[in-house]
Amino acid sequence: MVSNSGALGFPRMGPNREMKFALEKHWRGKMDEASMLAIARDVEQQAWGIQMDAGVGLISAGDHCLYDNMLAWTEYLGAVPKRHAHLAPGNERMFAMARGIDNAPALDMTKFFDTNYHYEVPELETPVALQPNFANYLETISRGIAKMGADRTAPVVLGPVTWVHLARHANAEASEEATTALKDQYLDAILPVYAALIGKLAAMGVQEVQLHEPALVMWDSSKTLAAMFKKAYFANKACPMLSADVKVNLVTFFEDVGAEAYQWVTALPVSAISLDFTRGDSLKLVKGYGFPKDKVLGAGIIDGRSPWAMEPAKVVSLVREVASAIMPANPNGSDNIRVQASCNLQFVPWDVTCEGDLAEKVGGDVLAFAVQKVQEIVALAEAVPKITAGKEAKDIFPVLDKAWKAFSASVTDNTNTAKRLAGLTEASFSRPAPFKERVAAQQKSLKLPVLPTTTIGSFPQTAAVRKLRREFKSGALSAEDYERAIDQQISYAIGIQEALGLDILVHGEAERTDMVEFFGQQFQGFAFTSNGWVQSYGSRCVRPPIIHGDVSRPTAMTTREFKVAQELTLRPVKGMLTGPVTILNWSFPRLDVSRKEQAFQIALAISDEVADLEAAGCKVIQVDEPALREGLPLKPLKKADYLKWATDSFLLSTAIAKPETSIHTHMCYCDFGDCMEAIDRLDADVNSIENARSDNTTLQSFKEFNYKKGLGPGLYDIHSPVVPPVSTLQDKLEGFLKVLPKEQLVCNPDCGLKTRTWPQVLGALRNLVEATRNVRTLN
Ligand code: GLN
Ligand code: ZN
Repeated sequence: MVSNSGALGFPRMGPNREMKFALEKHWRGKMDEASMLAIARDVEQQAWGIQMDAGVGLISAGDHCLYDNMLAWTEYLGAVPKRHAHLAPGNERMFAMARGIDNAPALDMTKFFDTNYHYEVPELETPVALQPNFANYLETISRGIAKMGADRTAPVVLGPVTWVHLARHANAEASEEATTALKDQYLDAILPVYAALIGKLAAMGVQEVQLHEPALVMWDSSKTLAAMFKKAYFANKACPMLSADVKVNLVTFFEDVGAEAYQWVTALPVSAISLDFTRGDSLKLVKGYGFPKDKVLGAGIIDGRSPWAMEPAKVVSLVREVASAIMPANPNGSDNIRVQASCNLQFVPWDVTCEGDLAEKVGGDVLAFAVQKVQEIVALAEAVPKITAGKEAKDIFPVLDKAWKAFSASVTDNTNTAKRLAGLTEASFSRPAPFKERVAAQQKSLKLPVLPTTTIGSFPQTAAVRKLRREFKSGALSAEDYERAIDQQISYAIGIQEALGLDILVHGEAERTDMVEFFGQQFQGFAFTSNGWVQSYGSRCVRPPIIHGDVSRPTAMTTREFKVAQELTLRPVKGMLTGPVTILNWSFPRLDVSRKEQAFQIALAISDEVADLEAAGCKVIQVDEPALREGLPLKPLKKADYLKWATDSFLLSTAIAKPETSIHTHMCYCDFGDCMEAIDRLDADVNSIENARSDNTTLQSFKEFNYKKGLGPGLYDIHSPVVPPVSTLQDKLEGFLKVLPKEQLVCNPDCGLKTRTWPQVLGALRNLVEATRNVRTLN
């Protein structure tokens, strides 16, 4: 066991997604709670075993949960919405909050900081009523202690400020002041609960608790957040949360905490402070302000959000710099460094050794998933004395050093992409004519009615369609037979759209499993795992591709299906592509090249496809960017830079289109208010957006911005199986027309239809077309 090493959490779905299948079976009523819990415990035991065997000094416990860790703490705290409060505390109530029951809908779900993991948003109600119940949590901790010993078990406690910060007022209309005041009341109410809990952990013999407060990195973003931290963790008087007989490691991640918060946090009476050295500039803070000699620095050096192995040269120099920065205050400084992952390892897959020839595909043995990352933590921790004694990276980690050097040598073979990037000019990022001229040219060639109708791209992915793709993949179906079957799907979709009377048609995306995977698989520079699942939410997992080299597109990816569709109809068929920013944000990027450069490389590949579609006769091309806003950095100061290169990437992929080609984009899951300028800068001729809120606030923000380009606010929510009646759709559209002129509006659902059934789609689109026709005659 290596005492100066620690872990902040381990994936919880199991090596083969055992928990996914157990949970889903349980929810379907096919597995009782006890059997499901037995699997959960087994996964937890495996995670602990792996970390013990690796020799990790302090191992997290209580980080595993059955749905989402935010939700788990909502349940432990008993901060349950009234609509679920009649249920008995425990897992079933937690599942009810996550998934909804009868007349009690689920909590909202949203992205956890800047990750692709979703958490369940706690709802704060008045009056504050808590029914804390930590039985399940404490039981986990005691199992951890039984297996690992009290001195090695470091319970993960989700910090009170982070929990409150990520919550929202139950009343969506509540003002900002009311929300702040209610958050403050909740904080007052939960702090004693936390103090009591930490006391209990101390009584169980635990020696160190890890208090996860990622919200600390957002300190600069709001005064109220800083005030909440000061209230929860005051430095001078005895803070109840920090006065139990147990050490506290205050853990932050995803960014540096910023200068002000750094000075505040280093003065707290905690025994360890954990900082993320992989994102933001924690090193600068430690260098600039020193580090107190009475505390341990939890140095998050092993990147918990990336599937890449540590790079010896980088991590060794980082450890050396951190050590020398804390030396002046503490000559034995290196003894106070504890090597950790930058965050919970839930954001990377379980084990890379089951991935067959993946290392060959990416160009070297340079990948590390969770199992490998805990080994890295220990190896690096062990190496600290050698590092501070001046030994070189290549001598400490010779094998990995060689692997990285081989990898670096292997990536630079794609000179054409580099050359193209070097040759970009301003014109590469702007459409050949201004919007006004473009719409005139487009109208001439497309001859669309006012309020044209369209859909977002996908049609139902029926069992038959999925079976086709599966059989093709396994080799049971020849390429020829597969294409013929896909073409049948296309002709069905086109026939239906013609019959419904839609104006801009789509081919239906039957050949695509996933909007990123479909393109990634045809790009050079992308690799796919066979079992590299990471939790997205609840039982849902995703398998992000790994970008490992320069990206290019050897041959056309979508023109065949476009042509099949367009030959069947005189109406325009939309070409359907995924945008560069979305592809990047839903993949694991490489680390040797900036995200911006990778986005540009993908953009060039997409622009090649735009040109090919045009050449094939495509007059409307949609480039989806649902994840554009997701990539926004946490620090306000970094936002402008991101939005600049993100919009540049979109422009780079679409600017190649002729003025008479109509470029559409689509964005969902998006709160547009704070990035209107960027959306406008995309210069798309039409933007279809999710518009779930009924009060037209989204539309208002477009109007207030004086947005002049085409807009397709979703007329109905595709997540619901309910077929919206004509009258509802008509009212909705009339409502839109009160805000924006008819010349600007396009009529469509709010996202792709792949999760719906054909009868639902037929009913909804029939009504959408009829409602639009009614409104056309009335206006
Ligand atoms: N074109 C895609 C579809 O219709 C868009 C999906 C998305 O926005 N998430 O499925
Ligand atoms: Zn969408």
